[in-house]
Amino acid sequence: MTIDTTFMAMTMETSKALATVAYIAAAVLFIFSLGGLSNQESARRGNVLGIVGMVLAIGATLFGYMSGGFVWAVVAMLPAIAIGATMAARVPMTGMPELVALLHSFVGLAAVFVGFASYISPGVKVLPSEALIHEIEIYIGVFIGAITFTGSIIAFLKLKGSMSGKPITVPGRHLLNLALVAVCVWLGTMFCGSPDHGGLWALLVMTAIACFLGVHMVVAIGGADMPVVVSMLNSYSGWAAAAAGFMLKNHLLIVTGALVGSSGAILSYIMCKAMNRSFVSVILGGFGTDGGGGGPAAEVEGTVTEFSVDDTVDMLLEAQSVVIVPGYGMAVAQAQHSLAEVVKILRDKDKEVRFAIHPVAGRLPGHMNVLLAEANVPYDIVLEMDEINDDMPSTDAILVIGANDIVNPGALEDPNSPIAGMPVIEVWKAKTAVVMKRSMAVGYAGVDNPLFYKDNTHMLFGDAKTNVDAILSKLRG
Ligand code: NDP
Repeated sequence: MTIDTTFMAMTMETSKALATVAYIAAAVLFIFSLGGLSNQESARRGNVLGIVGMVLAIGATLFGYMSGGFVWAVVAMLPAIAIGATMAARVPMTGMPELVALLHSFVGLAAVFVGFASYISPGVKVLPSEALIHEIEIYIGVFIGAITFTGSIIAFLKLKGSMSGKPITVPGRHLLNLALVAVCVWLGTMFCGSPDHGGLWALLVMTAIACFLGVHMVVAIGGADMPVVVSMLNSYSGWAAAAAGFMLKNHLLIVTGALVGSSGAILSYIMCKAMNRSFVSVILGGFGTDGGGGGPAAEVEGTVTEFSVDDTVDMLLEAQSVVIVPGYGMAVAQAQHSLAEVVKILRDKDKEVRFAIHPVAGRLPGHMNVLLAEANVPYDIVLEMDEINDDMPSTDAILVIGANDIVNPGALEDPNSPIAGMPVIEVWKAKTAVVMKRSMAVGYAGVDNPLFYKDNTHMLFGDAKTNVDAILSKLRG
């Protein structure tokens, strides 16, 4: 060995050691990032920590672990950075859920590609004693990746409204799913141990079946239950990334994937609890489609009473305690900034004003909290449904802004409703409630809302932003 080659070998060893340290630092930053994201006040810091961790991880991979292929890496990364940055800058808040679903599908697809590449030409050294483990990693990684890929695309189409939110089910779908999983297990036994890439056919057939399973599981899920699907696919995308980490022997990818996978699973569990759904049925797909008791949903009857902007302002001025329930329509109308001004004026008049946030309000977990934080609404008056629901009977006035399913009493009263059993904000128990929306149209779950016909509920029709602006100018005037 010449002095030059010895020096080069030492340099490579040093940069690998530095990269390992950077990976550990990145993993710690990701953990702190997740911790930060769990709370509105620290969410910005959480985001910054995540970004720093990711830059560190990419730098360590490029300069510490890769010994060639830089041009390919740059050719792949630059357009991706440009496309990602443009998409993120352009997407409106109401389009975030679709974007997130689409990004999950990319993680799934990447795991499938990594799996095939690792099988055909392993980028890492695989000892003969590790061959079986490596094949199992590839097989499981491709399986989860393919389900995540197609499942997320269907979720994207449903959230975007390009596909109906209604569940599409075939008779005996659970048996069909089970049979397909059994075929995949059998194909796995064909795949593992086949010499000279002889298992490629089994891997290909399994990928096709897993792609079908992803579609089949998500099309069977009805509108109102989509929040859980979104967080479940988030979890799957994490496990797919962790599997890719095992294939590539990349410890940071394993850690990151496990963090995303487990936090997504915890979120799914929390959402299931919040919506009174069974966690196991969610994982198996197609839950919540059989409608509570199996019969037709109850017909909604009664008279609707309308309120004007003046009536609404009078109600707010007379009330001592006010609760505001925001929903998806507030996000569409972008009414949060004017609303924050209304809240400030009412609070200056010594009224108790609080927000009630339903766990699935909007189209993304935490959707309303983000919008209210953006409008600088004080955090201490933004309460979760469980914290405020008991206060409804002692509340004078409720302002429901662009919310529908989350205030639907049918969820509690009608066992045949598609949202039967889902806890809702019980606004009808307050003295008076005003619902601001443009028409009598249904919400995301596609069910009529008996709230609109209750004696103490009044409708203020029109765009939420236009009406909140009108309320604001009356309050100022
Ligand atoms: P909904 O979809 O039930 O209702 C929103 C209402 O807003 C509509 O009925 C609509 O009525 C009204 N609206 C729309 N645009 C405007 C506007 N510009 N001005 C005033 N009103 C407007 O939303 P909710 O927040 O009440 O409930 C969320 C639903 O979404 C639940 O069914 C949930 O399961 C589902 N979901 C939630 C996800 C999450 O993670 N949070 C993810 C996916 C789905 P109109 O057309 O008459 O104006």
